[in-house]
Amino acid sequence: MRIARVVEAIPPSGIRRFFDIVSQMDDVISLGVGEPDFVTPWRIREAAIYSIERGYTQYTSNWGLLELRREIAHLLDRRYGLEYRAEGEVLVTVGVSEGLDLALRALLNPGDEVLIPEPCYVSYRPTTLLAGGVPVPIRTDASHGFRVRPADLEAAVTPRTRAILLNFPCNPTGATLRRSELEAISRLAERHDLVVVSDEIYAELTYEGRHCSFAALPGMQNRTILLNGFSKAFAMTGWRMAYAAGPADLIAAMTKIHQYTMLSAPIASQYAALEACRSGEQEMELMVADYARRRRLFVDGLNALGLECRLPEGAFYAFPCIRATGLSSEEFAERLLREERVAVVPGTAFGEGGEGHVRCSYAAGMETLREALRRMERFIQGCGSRGAGRRGAVEAPVAVVSAGR
Ligand code: PLP
Repeated sequence: MRIARVVEAIPPSGIRRFFDIVSQMDDVISLGVGEPDFVTPWRIREAAIYSIERGYTQYTSNWGLLELRREIAHLLDRRYGLEYRAEGEVLVTVGVSEGLDLALRALLNPGDEVLIPEPCYVSYRPTTLLAGGVPVPIRTDASHGFRVRPADLEAAVTPRTRAILLNFPCNPTGATLRRSELEAISRLAERHDLVVVSDEIYAELTYEGRHCSFAALPGMQNRTILLNGFSKAFAMTGWRMAYAAGPADLIAAMTKIHQYTMLSAPIASQYAALEACRSGEQEMELMVADYARRRRLFVDGLNALGLECRLPEGAFYAFPCIRATGLSSEEFAERLLREERVAVVPGTAFGEGGEGHVRCSYAAGMETLREALRRMERFIQGCGSRGAGRRGAVEAPVAVVSAGR
């Protein structure tokens, strides 16, 4: 066998298959991708253009430009009250994706376990496996707002547990953790000597209250690898810019891997990120205010259709329950796409606990969201949902169209 067993065993992303179908169809409203619909603010783009004009086309320090790390340290202080040293405690990474990979590879010995609340971002399991670890899913559910219960984490700890991988606000559920819950998790991390890898990429997209970083809790900075970046808050997905902040020994270990695999993050992107730190907050806040309006419109619309949906506290995803339609989440997503040309992602793409839900990104214009809701209404009426829809009709679900599967 030419392919390594660990790679062979990893299934392809459940999202990919839907994108492949979408790419062959016209007039599709895609609520499938986790990506801002905004273009990166002009000043940020301009900063990258100027850097190229000036001939800044070289590698940078492995850690990233020192000025950028300083600005990131200021940003973390300004927005979350965190104090990191730019030299030694901050590493510029190629997306949070790279930061996550580095963190897990730096932490895990073969067979070490990582507690991962699910449903979760699609790459957590594969990245853990590729780092030689064992993902231990901790189910979260709608009845508790998809917030992980600290007691469930505690019950899953074994002598092999090495880390907890948190993501709040959460992709795909939009749930975020309360301070009291974070504190309970911090106590158990302390008790069992665990490292917390905290993916806070949606921190700025928090609509209820203020985001509390895990590293800001008493005693936690020394056992937290904080991952954050520019993709979502500054509409910069294509620039691949992010950072890891943490205790010097862990960041040095991550930098060791980064220097051999990545060398450094792209320099033009680093200049763009520098500008984002310096002047991007105002535009970021405008974008967040826009997401907040879309969230209301879309979530109210889903509930009016009979697709029960909590108001997500953060990120830009709605995670409605589709059980009233009598369809599984895969069937719902596939039929909605084929019959009404609206792309959403089945909840099962994010773990088994996602069954009965679909993820819809509301990072789309208001009119697009209204049209998506109209199409979804037609779809629900068409499939004669049990108890769903304004009509409250009780009809048998239609047989599943399972083309291509
Ligand atoms: N973490 C979460 C929770 C995400 O939702 C995403 C992207 O959707 C990422 C990480 C990857 O982010 P980046 O673009 O910084 O690699």
